[in-house]
Amino acid sequence: MPESQTAWTVIRPGNLIDAKGGPPASGQAVVVQGSTIHWVGASEAAEAPGGPLSSRTSYQTLDFPDATLLPGLIDAHTHTNMPGDGRSGEAVNLDDTDDTRLLRSARNVGLALASGVTTVCDCGAWHDTAFSLRQSVESGLVPGSRVLASGRPITVTGGHLWYMGAEADGIEGVRSQVRQLIKQRANFIKVAASGGSTSTSDPFRPSFTEPEMITLVEEAHNRGRPVAAHCRCTGAIKNALAAGVDMVLHCFFCESDGTYRFDHDTARRLADDGVWVNPTLHLGRTRRDLLRRKRDIEELTAEEQTRLETLEANDGPRLERCASLIDAGVRLIGGSDCGWGTYPFGDFQGELIAMADAGLAPMAAIIAGTRDSASAMGVSDRIGTIEPGKEADLLVVEGDPSRNVEDLRKVQAVFRAGVKAPGPVPGFHTNLSGGHT
Ligand SMILES: [Zn+2]
Repeated sequence: MPESQTAWTVIRPGNLIDAKGGPPASGQAVVVQGSTIHWVGASEAAEAPGGPLSSRTSYQTLDFPDATLLPGLIDAHTHTNMPGDGRSGEAVNLDDTDDTRLLRSARNVGLALASGVTTVCDCGAWHDTAFSLRQSVESGLVPGSRVLASGRPITVTGGHLWYMGAEADGIEGVRSQVRQLIKQRANFIKVAASGGSTSTSDPFRPSFTEPEMITLVEEAHNRGRPVAAHCRCTGAIKNALAAGVDMVLHCFFCESDGTYRFDHDTARRLADDGVWVNPTLHLGRTRRDLLRRKRDIEELTAEEQTRLETLEANDGPRLERCASLIDAGVRLIGGSDCGWGTYPFGDFQGELIAMADAGLAPMAAIIAGTRDSASAMGVSDRIGTIEPGKEADLLVVEGDPSRNVEDLRKVQAVFRAGVKAPGPVPGFHTNLSGGHT
């Protein structure tokens, strides 16, 4: 057996957040054997007689006295094929090959891991690229975050993301696409329940009919796969609820004429049914922040100035809508949608911070990006909390993010399956501080 599979390590942080729901604790230690968390308990008990290290002759000790240890972050919503530099999905469809997209995915999962995200859920990639990515990470060919892949998102003919390769119409069409994806070991199913930014689609109307959605979810659940539904309008959210989806992405309460009207009954139903909602709050902020940085260096065009003003005016209402979901008792999960728009990989924390700005307590935001995203994806038996028997996917950050959620960005160390990840990739921090688009 290779040494990494048998080596023992004890990690002693100043503060431990196990993400099981309790308060942070000091004076704790986590003992890792190979790729697995072996033991969690009081620091002095680790080496004491009868403790997990008492009979070990050699083990490594890692002390982080001024830092917090928490589970590695799990980003429930990413697009690894995408550059996050403002190019649209349609442009990437026209200009790039699958080879280029796959190489970009490989780079993106490296950026994600270095930033503290130990698992990315790819919610829509071209053709077979997400499956190839997952295999390459699993085999060690590509260093990066674990990958949970939906593969091609299922969409109606000409619907949102049609160019990724899974158009389906009618009950039998939908059923066959789900079965094909499961044949390729999709970890979950992504469906475009409404249109989106794709020009041939309509974001303000449901795309699939209710019977099509019901068949899709039935077929996925029959094989133990959760379903994530992209919903940019109220009609799509209602169809998704009727079908029993597990996750609603975006969750915009828009009417068919594009006006926003918060639907309290539907929000209550989302809460009652325990559907996980991913509000994608930070995506608009990345665009706003890019324009602000540009304004610091040069004059904005009149069009850019107007765009910036709109984005600035939208931020408050977006947070208030999310606050209304929280008030209704809806369970939120963290998902950045990074790769899309102007949101590059490497700052999933931005979404968790935005969720805290919308009203989640910092600890609740942390849990939304660890334990709860694992539960939504059906993998909470393996990852998402710091508990014996789980994968040693761990993040060390300076300070205490349960008091100041922005501390999540102060990454000191990342471990995936017990192996310490290489430090931040050069260029990563420029995404946050300006310069890079
Ligand atoms: Zn998305």
